[in-house]
Amino acid sequence: MKKVAIGVDIGGTNTAIGVVDEAGNVMVKDNIPTPSHGDINKYIADLADAINELIHSVKLLNEDINVMGIGIGAPNGNYYSGTIEYAANLSFRGVVHLIELLRNHFPKMQALVLTNDANAAAIGEMIYGGAKGMKNFVLFTLGTGVGSGIVVNGDLVYGSDGFAGEIGHTTLVPGGRPCGCSSLGHLEAYCSASGIKRTAFELLVHYNASDSLLADKSFKELDSKMILKQRKKEIKLPWKYLKKQAPG
Ligand SMILES: [Zn+2]
Repeated sequence: MKKVAIGVDIGGTNTAIGVVDEAGNVMVKDNIPTPSHGDINKYIADLADAINELIHSVKLLNEDINVMGIGIGAPNGNYYSGTIEYAANLSFRGVVHLIELLRNHFPKMQALVLTNDANAAAIGEMIYGGAKGMKNFVLFTLGTGVGSGIVVNGDLVYGSDGFAGEIGHTTLVPGGRPCGCSSLGHLEAYCSASGIKRTAFELLVHYNASDSLLADKSFKELDSKMILKQRKKEIKLPWKYLKKQAPG
């Protein structure tokens, strides 16, 4: 009997689900929208349905499988308590008891675990990816936010409250831009995909850069990929600009 695990990646817009074997091969996968309505109970029911359908689809392929557990990565996911806590990029407010709610749908599942999405990525890279063979490293995730997972002596560092390595919400520019968490000047407000877009717009305004190839893009249209493409050609290093702007 083949041992498999269910991997779930809860993102700001989409939730990716995969059935993965011991070698790290994704046997089947699916996506459901991460809702903007904030109704956690409906979302958990949809997620459970999608997981059960995927398990069923593997069994239809005549695969004899033993589902060892469900592992979930989510923004602000707490490994110790199984909760998602005050995630700025999700519509669910406050503390969400994700594992407890999912357990109602999978009472016999052997393992049901949640961790921060960057921590999950660090474990994945350590076992199957770019950090294979490494025992001490830091992984950064750059997307809607900035996340990080710290591995020391082959173990993920969780810290006393489960949120060690949440580098996105450390202060880069005191009194700087508003962050999604409502504090000011955090790394995420500058170095995430959306932060880079905000920097590009500031630079366009600052240098009155009407000759820039990015100048005719609306704020909605512009994305970090377009900026990367133009970076070498025309935009001066944002860091120099940010240092000049920082108070003190
Ligand atoms: Zn923040």
